[in-house]
Parts: sequence; C-alpha cells; structure tokens
Amino acid sequence: MNFLEERILSDAVVKDGAVLKVDSFLNHQVDTDLVEQIAQEFHRRFAHKPITKVFTIESSGIAIAYAVARQFGVPLVFAKKSGSVNLDGETYIADIPSFTHKVTNRVIVGKRFLQSEDRVLIIDDFLANGYALQGLISLVDAAGAQVWGLGVAIEKGFQEGGDRIRNLGYHLESLAIIDAMDPATGTITFRNNGGTK
Ligand code: 5GP
Repeated sequence: MNFLEERILSDAVVKDGAVLKVDSFLNHQVDTDLVEQIAQEFHRRFAHKPITKVFTIESSGIAIAYAVARQFGVPLVFAKKSGSVNLDGETYIADIPSFTHKVTNRVIVGKRFLQSEDRVLIIDDFLANGYALQGLISLVDAAGAQVWGLGVAIEKGFQEGGDRIRNLGYHLESLAIIDAMDPATGTITFRNNGGTK
C-alpha cells in the first residue's frame, strides 16, 4: 500500500452516493506535506515528458496542481468556473457536469494561457465518471495544444471515467485506485496496481 492509500484508509470517510470525503487532508483542510509527496510522485511518473503547463479545474484540484507545477518548474493554469456566458472570443469554454454537486459548471480558460505549442499535464484530485478530465481535454484541444498526460490523486475505479480516458489512448496515472467502497461498513478496497512500488 502506498502513502496515499494509507492516508485514505486512516482519514477518508465513505459517504452514500459513491462519494469519498477527504476534506480533512486534501480538499478542505489540506495537508501540505501530503500534497508535496503527491506532487513528487507525479513528477517521478511523468518526469520524462517535456511538460510546459499544468492544467486543472477550479477549485479542489488547485492545491495538488500547484505543487505539481512547482515540481516541473512550469506555470499552473486552472479553468475557472464562470456563472456568466462570456462569449467574447477571448476564452475557450467547456460545460462540465459536476459529480459531487449535481449541476453543470461552465468553465473557461483565457486563450492566452493555453497555446498551440503547449504540452499539457492535466491534474485533478478525483476521477469518477471522467467529465472533469474530458472537459479539460476539450479545452486543451480547442487551443490546439497537446495533452501529454493526466494525473489524478484518487480514481474511483468502479466508475467509468478511468477506463474511458485510457481507452482514448491517454497516459493516465492514478496514485490510488479504489475498486470498491461500502458506506455501511466504511470498507475501502484498492486495486493492486494502485501502489507506487
Ligand atoms: P468526474 O468528472 O470524473 O465525474 O468527477 C471528478 C470531479 O468530481 C473531481 O473534480 C472532484 O472534485 C469531484 N469528485 C468526484 N468524486 C468525488 C468523491 O468521491 N469525493 C470528492 N470529494 N470529490 C469527488
């Protein structure tokens, strides 16, 4: 078991509706040492790639993506959630259904922050049905830039996003893959290859 899987077992809470709560260490209160370790692990896994931008979505992926961007020494760009319909031609737009909030968020990124020569590493905290990652991929595509990899801290392997993204041919790395979790008992089962070693 790797460091993130151990932390999930000790501090995460399994909720109804296939939701894992990690707000004591990852996406409300943030354990900065853990995030640093996560970033080092992503850097190790994608070190051979000449990444020029790290890209994520507002808001809970920002802490991890920031730390990853520092590892690579490149800028972090995050797609902003936008309430307004801004079609002024200066932004790329994607509509992304939110797994946790059951709404669709319009997200935007300024055209000047994603350019055709960029080699992009997409980072997020969770992968469930894959809508967030697919929305981010569509923004990179719209810019004519290239997705060189995707990294998520926690993949819920019993939901379809991971398979869908891998089947599209992308290099996706998940630090912890959960194959089953039971809200009644709190039991969490990891996929064997979810370890770092
Ligand atoms: P997807 O778009 O892959 O369906 O869902 C991914 C997004 O939903 C992530 O950006 C994450 O913020 C949120 N999310 C999905 N599942 C969970 C979960 O079990 N726990 C938490 N805390 N967030 C989740």
